[in-house]
Amino acid sequence: MEIQIPAEPMALMQRLNRGGYEAYVVGGCVRDALMGTRPHDWDICTNALPEQVLDLFHDHRVAKTGLQHGTVMVVRQGVGYEITTFRTDGVYSDHRHPDQVSFVPSLDQDLARRDFTVNAMAYHPDTGVVDLFGGREDLKQGVIRCVGQAEERFEEDGLRLMRALRFASRFGFRLEEDTASAIHRRLELLDSIAAERIFSELKGFLCGKGVEALLVDYRDVFARILPQLAPMFDFPQQNPHHCFDVWRHTARAVRETPAQPALRIAALFHDSGKPECWSRDGQGIDHFYGHAQRSVELSRDMLNRLRCDNETKEQVLLQVKWHDLPLPQTRREAARLLNRMGEQGAQWSVALHRADALAQSPAFLAEKLERVELAKALLEELLREKACFTLKDLAIGGSDLIALGVPKGPQVGKTLKHLLELVMDGACPNQREALLERCRQEGINKA
Ligand code: ATP
Ligand code: MG
Repeated sequence: MEIQIPAEPMALMQRLNRGGYEAYVVGGCVRDALMGTRPHDWDICTNALPEQVLDLFHDHRVAKTGLQHGTVMVVRQGVGYEITTFRTDGVYSDHRHPDQVSFVPSLDQDLARRDFTVNAMAYHPDTGVVDLFGGREDLKQGVIRCVGQAEERFEEDGLRLMRALRFASRFGFRLEEDTASAIHRRLELLDSIAAERIFSELKGFLCGKGVEALLVDYRDVFARILPQLAPMFDFPQQNPHHCFDVWRHTARAVRETPAQPALRIAALFHDSGKPECWSRDGQGIDHFYGHAQRSVELSRDMLNRLRCDNETKEQVLLQVKWHDLPLPQTRREAARLLNRMGEQGAQWSVALHRADALAQSPAFLAEKLERVELAKALLEELLREKACFTLKDLAIGGSDLIALGVPKGPQVGKTLKHLLELVMDGACPNQREALLERCRQEGINKA
């Protein structure tokens, strides 16, 4: 099997070879190339020691931040390539970091330290693919399998539980049996992993194409990371709109959401408040009044636990908060949605409503999708027209009002807001003269 290695990493390998060292491309890039997708970076491994790599590339810009782990980053044409000395990882007494790494002479030992068979292949044009653990077969079968004894490998590094799920989700693979059962057995290994690293794996996992089934099958993992999710499991929804329990509905909604981390997190959390807000009426129908607000509170707890950045947090909370409100069906409602959530927020909100509908009973789906289409069209229309939906877009500003006689102070802001509402409602065109005239008519300057 041939892998087309781009010119730059090929040149790096050749220089290592000419220096008398072995060199291979390794890991994710070999996996991706064999799958027929373009690798996003090319990692190289070599038997040259880090000092020897530095010597060999003394005429290149290098970064030494990974040096203790044997990694030298060599920059070519503005792109950094990691060149890592063959190594084993020693003991992981904290289940997170190897106590020390040891450099080893052979590629075989380096491949053996890697997490999954599909990630443990190397390639050189002269040798072809080096595949000691059946990675190619697992790629063909769509399987994520630990290299060696699964439980031991997870004990060494608990992050691998999440990595297994992330790769499975991304490629739509299943987990091999021993790998899967080791995960279910050793959930506590997740407890010692830094929240930021879990969060980063979780985002990758959520954006994968296999996410729905994995959320259902590995719910114990997600409950371990975020206990606030557990009440959704098997929680029934006897309601003509629903055909799934809350967790299955959630898993389907995540799948149906565009693969943007913030949006998929919002889909994951959007109904988390339902179990606490449950009631059943005289007809035996379940209701979840007020659940969106409760979901916001739980989402905030979960995002804090994950040490989520503020920008993502804000967007997720905004989406969760408004997920249950009817979609705009008129221009004025669409303008108000844009005002409340901004351009991207409004479009995402429609996308989340669509996903939510697709994860509900098919009975009312057609009408729900019609409302989605109308909302989408209205937003597009307003955005195309560059319609006014923020104070910033308004054709007049505070100084115009002051010139008109409105006293400086809170009255100015209040008046601008009032004018914005008129414009968004279509009651007044967004033109300077028309707005000033409106102020005079309403006697606003005397207020
Ligand atoms: P991606 O496309 O997501 O970058 P990748 O396979 O390149 O996938 P990286 O996290 O960049 O993943 O790691 C590069 C390689 O290093 C992996 O393919 C794997 O061989 C090895 N590796 C990374 N993290 C671990 C780990 N925690 N345990 C064992 N091996 C690992
Ligand atoms: Mg990588």
